[in-house]
Order: sequence, then structure tokens, then C-alpha cells
Amino acid sequence: MNASQLFEAVASVPLQVLIVVTAVVLLGRSVDQAAAVCRLWTIGFLSILGLVAAGFLFPHLRLMHSDGLSNDLSNAAARTVLAAQAWTLKIAAAVWIVGFAYVLLQRLVRMIVLSQFFSQRCREMTDEEIAGLPLETQDALPKNLRWLVSFEMHGPFCWQLQRPTIVLPSCLLREDEGVLRHVILHELEHLRTNHPLQHFLQGSCNALLWFHPAVWWAARNAELTREFHCDEVAAGNGGTIADYLKTLARIAEQNTTAPTCTLAFGRRKSAIIRRTERLLAQSESTCDRSSSHARLRGSLAIGSLLLVVLLASQLWLPVNLLASSRARLSPWPTWSAEVLHDFGVSVRDYERFDARHDLNELQRDVDD
Ligand SMILES: [Zn+2]
Repeated sequence: MNASQLFEAVASVPLQVLIVVTAVVLLGRSVDQAAAVCRLWTIGFLSILGLVAAGFLFPHLRLMHSDGLSNDLSNAAARTVLAAQAWTLKIAAAVWIVGFAYVLLQRLVRMIVLSQFFSQRCREMTDEEIAGLPLETQDALPKNLRWLVSFEMHGPFCWQLQRPTIVLPSCLLREDEGVLRHVILHELEHLRTNHPLQHFLQGSCNALLWFHPAVWWAARNAELTREFHCDEVAAGNGGTIADYLKTLARIAEQNTTAPTCTLAFGRRKSAIIRRTERLLAQSESTCDRSSSHARLRGSLAIGSLLLVVLLASQLWLPVNLLASSRARLSPWPTWSAEVLHDFGVSVRDYERFDARHDLNELQRDVDD
């Protein structure tokens, strides 16, 4: 991959990501069920990871050409632009590596803190305590579920790496049975719908694209959507919406903090206010969110999102001065082409010759 090709990828992939995140937010507004919006976010995060991989590993269609730009440039100007692109890439790569290493280190520290929290500040619930929890026979429990009680004041939360885990502060066990049941149903729904996996995908996008405001925006929206969904399920199964609102208020009164890499019941009070407003709006709404019409809208939104991802993957900014006007498909990046060559598959990893071929000479000069 020459510097101009790499510059094209570095400039275009963040734009593709912005389009996908915007599409998820807008499509999510057309869907009533929070569960369907959660699915949109999971597809969105997978798509972002896919776009990053495809951008640096696969060729793409050239719908827009940089002919006009490069034909108007003199050789001297083209040389200057290429040199500027190469320098921009070097600076961007250095900044990205520092940011990426910082995010990874931060995650590692959080994991160590969390494992210490589990081993030093929590204990496993006894069988008697588990039997005393306000669970009903129809409540589906994940396999191998671990119940922990913590000795500290914090909000309830769940987490999963190897084993699904629900952590309840000891003060919560003394609460009214209705409050405890709401919290348990909420946390069980997080685990049942694989929210820890979505959280992991979200974290992977955040680590790779730590500099991208659209990814921070996506993380906040996805977190809120997960809470909306679990609130809907817990409020529907554990009494009335009015009862559930009392539980939210009760949790908000207490300490809502929780370890940062977990799914907390109510980490931010501003989010609890948004969740309360949504539940109130739902209690006043007459629309049936489980109707076939609502399900159809969810399926249509997923189909539309996949179409947007496909179109976004082919949106490349015309900033590659060395792009040949004779090829509709960009060359394969060198690293993936070499792997394919090793497996006996021959693919083109060079630009086709055209009238601007002398720019390749300039590129070599810049590289030297
Ligand atoms: Zn939650």
C-alpha cells in the first residue's frame, strides 16, 4: 500500500463510520422496540469493525476519481501534495499508536481493578440466599450464573467474561422485594440478550477509533438503548410501570457508581432521567410495540442499515493522486495481496499504467 493509497483509507474510513453511526441513530428513531434498536447497534458495531478491516485489507470500487485534481497539478505541486500526505500519515500513525496504547492500558488496569473487586470486596451468595431471591419459575437464568454480594455502597451491575455474573450491593438485599425483583430482572435481561458481547464490540470500536467523536456518540446511544430495553422487559414482568419508576428513583437516591467496564444498573443520573421519561411516555402511549407492524419496522430498519453499510463501504474520498483512471477497482493492499499470493491466488496489487504514470516516479522520490 503506497502512502497515497493509505492516506485515502485513513481519510475515507472515518467518514464511512460517521455515515453508519448516523444511519443507526436515524433508523433507531423509526423503531419502537428498544430490542430492535439494540440489534441495530450490534450490527452497527460489527459493521464499523468490518469497514475498518475492509478499508485496509480489500480493494474497493472507484466511484469518484481524483483525475481532475491530479491532472490540474504540476509535477512540483503533486510532489508537494504527496510529501504532505506522507508526513500527515506519519504524524497520524504516531498519535494513533499513542492513543491506542493508552486505551489498551486503561482497559487492562480496569480489568485488574475489577478482578480485585470481585476477590476482595465481594462474596458468592449462599444457596439459601439465592433461594430467597424474588425469582419465579419462568425467569430464565443463564447457565453457570454467578451471584455476588458486595460489601461496598454502589449500584447493582452485571458482567460477563467467562461466567455471567450479577453483583448486588448488600444494602439492596434489605430493600423491598419489588425493588429487588426489578433490579434482578433488569440485570438478567442484559445477560440473556448478550449485552456484554455488544459492550465488548462497542469497546473494540472505541479502542480502534478512540479519536472519532461519532464512535463516542455511538457508545452513549447504545448504552442508553440497552438500558431502555432492559427497563421495558423488567417493568413489563415485574409489576406496573409506576412501580418500576419507584425502583429507578430508589436506585438514583443511592450510590449509582459501579466499576467502569461493567453494565451498571444506573451509572449516570442524567441517563436515569432519560429512562424515566421514556417509561412515562410509554405508559401514556397506546401503540403496541409487540405488534407485527412494529416487528416489520424493525426488520426494515435492519435491511436499510445493511444497505447503508454496503454503500458506505464504497464511498472513498478522491484523495489518492496515484489512482489510475484506467481501473474501476483499486489495487489490493500489498499485505493482503501477499497473503493471497502465498496461497497461489494472483491479484493485482499495483496501479494500471495511465497518462499520469510519472506520479509513481514522484511517489518513489517522496518515499526515498
Ligand atoms: Zn442496565
